[in-house]
Amino acid sequence: MRIPDHALRVDPARCTGCVECTRACPAKAIRVRDNVAQVLPERCIDCGECYRVCPQRAIVPVTTTHTDVSTFKYKVALPSPALYSQFGPSTLPEDVLQALLSLGFDLAYDKAYACELVFADVKSYIEENYAGEPFISPVCPAVTRLIQLMFPALTGQILPFRPPREVAAKAIKADVTGRLNIPEDEIGVIHITPCLAKLAAMINPPTAERSSLDGAVGISEVYGSMLVALKQAKSDRKARSMHHSSGAGIGFGRAGGEVADLGIEETLAVSGVMDTIKILKDLERGKLRHIKYLECQICPGGCIGGPLTVQNRFIASNTITEFVKLFGARPDIEDMMKAGGHEREHFRLSKAILPAAIPPLDADTSFAIGKMRLREDIFRKLPGKNCAACGAPDCMTLADDIVRGHAKIEDCVFIRADGRSE
Ligand code: SF4
Ligand code: SF4
Repeated sequence: MRIPDHALRVDPARCTGCVECTRACPAKAIRVRDNVAQVLPERCIDCGECYRVCPQRAIVPVTTTHTDVSTFKYKVALPSPALYSQFGPSTLPEDVLQALLSLGFDLAYDKAYACELVFADVKSYIEENYAGEPFISPVCPAVTRLIQLMFPALTGQILPFRPPREVAAKAIKADVTGRLNIPEDEIGVIHITPCLAKLAAMINPPTAERSSLDGAVGISEVYGSMLVALKQAKSDRKARSMHHSSGAGIGFGRAGGEVADLGIEETLAVSGVMDTIKILKDLERGKLRHIKYLECQICPGGCIGGPLTVQNRFIASNTITEFVKLFGARPDIEDMMKAGGHEREHFRLSKAILPAAIPPLDADTSFAIGKMRLREDIFRKLPGKNCAACGAPDCMTLADDIVRGHAKIEDCVFIRADGRSE
């Protein structure tokens, strides 16, 4: 089995084995063994909940280093719209893009504009193809991975569109190569990201399509340097040429931005990992048949609530509200498409998103049924306290790990204390 890569690692020197991360992980993807947390790569959805809760800062994001970025001849910053929300409403998107240039990028591309372009086509697609079941947003990679793993029957409902960051990265490379005659492999498109999931999706895309992005740097990693660069950027406000998006594209930085841009009535926007899991369960139960488009974002409040952001998400949301007022609704999309030279086929996925469910207890169905019975028997012997002291998040998961050969019943502290394993 192909083991996916992820955008976090555990620093064993810092980890105390406190199991906070094990309890917080919605995918049951962490075990503490020998007092050190281990992430199970085949289960992790890159939501970043473990990173948020670790009291020792032992969960470390694995983002692109300055050295990695410097290897590219032509460096392009592709900021999430959430970056615009981090500095308050007096810092305009054009200032943010200008400041990114001061940090050493050759080009800073307004990704919010790509969101508008792609979603104009998404709207037509929904209107033409809706057949009684909602389409699910393809934008948040942690949601895509969650669906692949925990709701495999819903993968066919994820809109077959490339996320705007991928569309933008591909278009930028074609444009720079055409204009400046720089080979694509010497162009580095670096996403300035609010979360771990975007980097993980770049390393390990949900389809077999290769990512057009070359790296991702957390907003929190550039924030300090941006504050310094912004002082100069504001005093130089000479050109607005880099910022093209309206309030609609900037609104993609927070929950509800996609559905606001679509302007379709039968839509629903949900954010936060537990609420996303709940709504996907309702979708499986057939409760959302009246909905045409379901926007889900794993972070609370959307990308402005990402684990690598700096600003309080409620303050960030206020800043976006100001920008939505200031920059207004999207201009005519057909004009934008012509001006940008964009072809709609670049928006569509060429390969389907497939389920990636956890393997069954045994490849042979009859053995798998036997192992399920064994798991139930083991579970009944466990105390049912779900204390996580064994290093698994709950007793049923420990029973599952035992059947799979990854743990033993004596890992339960109560069984050990009683001296009973039979
Ligand atoms: S939260 Fe997890 S990674 Fe952090 S110290 Fe506790 S066990 Fe280790
Ligand atoms: S990123 Fe999310 S799914 Fe992955 S180990 Fe951390 S909490 Fe679990």
